[in-house]
Amino acid sequence: MTLPRNIAVIGAGIVGLSSALWLQKMGAKVTLIDRNEPGLGTSFGNAGLFADYGRLPVASYAQLRKIPGMLLDKTSPLSLQPRYARHLMPYGWHFIKACTPEKYRQGRDALTSLQTTAPAADETLLSETGAARLVRHDGCLALFSTREGFEAALAGHLRERREQGVKVQVMSAEEVRELEPDLSHFHAGGVLYPETRFTVSPIELSRMYARHFVAQGGKLLLDEVTTVSDMDGKCRVNTAQGSHTFDRVVICAGVAGARLAQQLGVRIPLVSERGYHLVLESDTWHLNRPVGWLDYAVFMTPMDDGIRIAGMAEFAAPDAPQGEKQPEIMLDVAAKMMGRTPSVKSTWVGSRPSTPDSLPVIGRVPGHPNFMLAFGHGHLGLTLAATTGKLVAESIQGTQQDALLAPFSPSRFH
Ligand SMILES: Cc1cc2nc3c(=O)[nH]c(=O)nc-3n(C[C@H](O)[C@H](O)[C@H](O)COP(=O)(O)OP(=O)(O)OC[C@H]3O[C@@H](n4cnc5c(N)ncnc54)[C@H](O)[C@@H]3O)c2cc1C
Repeated sequence: MTLPRNIAVIGAGIVGLSSALWLQKMGAKVTLIDRNEPGLGTSFGNAGLFADYGRLPVASYAQLRKIPGMLLDKTSPLSLQPRYARHLMPYGWHFIKACTPEKYRQGRDALTSLQTTAPAADETLLSETGAARLVRHDGCLALFSTREGFEAALAGHLRERREQGVKVQVMSAEEVRELEPDLSHFHAGGVLYPETRFTVSPIELSRMYARHFVAQGGKLLLDEVTTVSDMDGKCRVNTAQGSHTFDRVVICAGVAGARLAQQLGVRIPLVSERGYHLVLESDTWHLNRPVGWLDYAVFMTPMDDGIRIAGMAEFAAPDAPQGEKQPEIMLDVAAKMMGRTPSVKSTWVGSRPSTPDSLPVIGRVPGHPNFMLAFGHGHLGLTLAATTGKLVAESIQGTQQDALLAPFSPSRFH
């Protein structure tokens, strides 16, 4: 089938950029719309991991039992701003429904299916845009405070990841020291995920994708989308500065995606799960690859502009003021990992667009098939962006069986 000519992608984060590139590659005339320069949303601040090990949904009965205790513990990575609680109602209900063993297994299979196609989709975009030099293939370490915690993980989620096809190498504390001599002795060993890749600059990756898109004839429109509507099969996009009509529209607006989807009559229980990062001075301290301290749910990644420590899960409005305690906790964790307190070059907060079942929303809007949704990638947006973009383009082109997209359907919450 031939591709409809005139397609808009709303949102120039890593998911929108990847979708725009795939659509362009398949021959469409693409307009990419963002209120800001590309890559300045959540895609700016992530830990930089192409996290091949991310195949297990968060929602499970075991996790559900831990949540009250974590919310009460002031040092835990999980927190909730009281004013945001009412936004969590539909999300919470669907989270509980996603905890059944059957739903958990279905979610795990769906994530594994996306992960299986992700590396090849990345490689295509990275090599065609010249951005491959921004990605390193050195694996990543995931470490534990205690031997007991490590052994429990080996018998639990690490075993399960292996069963899902993730390569996992068990490392003693001594073996970790050989790989990362500058790390302090905070851990009792852990694992190396040898196939995890990481980028040394998430923002430069977005910029290179955007530059390539424009160089290939793509149109970048810096404007705020106010409304979307279906005019007898034509897609109307109203922006702060004008009105536009397209054959197809793909909504990749990250955490803002649900508001636009709702204008087309579909409700997605998407929430803002904020994460933080600190960029640390690292002139005399060296890391070869990302290192996660799993007890604190943080990752420390060597990036072009310094060591970035990223993590935390704070349910709060995207535009709420930055919390004070999160950067303090993260600096404390960084100091324990580095064996000294580093100076902080910058801090950042941004919203993961999170769904209750940990699966992104990828598919046509029910009743408005010329509109597609591609958002809700939660903790895995960088990892799954390229394969999402490919699926979006194939679906619009008509070469993708929409049945393959069923687990990610926008109507699954109804
Ligand atoms: C601390 C932290 C660490 C993370 N680490 C990792 C990691 O290591 N690996 C990984 O895979 N993922 C990670 N993630 C998750 C990942 O960053 C996100 O899933 C991903 O960036 C989402 O990309 P996106 O394109 O959907 O959204 P965004 O990057 O937020 O892009 C959405 C874009 O839409 C635009 N937009 C929204 N509304 C409108 C409108 N009305 N008009 C015009 N433009 C609009 C915004 O300006 C924005 O540019 C992390 C997240 C956080 C917070």
